Amino acid sequence: MPLEAGLLEILACPACHSPLDDRSAAEKPELVCTGTDCGLAYPVRDGIPVLLVDEARRPA
Ligand SMILES: [Zn+2]
Repeated sequence: MPLEAGLLEILACPACHSPLDDRSAAEKPELVCTGTDCGLAYPVRDGIPVLLVDEARRPA
């Protein structure tokens, strides 16, 4: 399920307030923070981004 158009533009990482990049794979939709020192990946559930640091995947 694609994100609603324009939604990505108004979203920001709750940890560092950098823009988010849609790097969704078909089986694993997620939004990845573009902050160089952050890089958290937030899950998207049922088309709704879960912008919670506790739910985010840490960069490798
Ligand atoms: Zn961030």
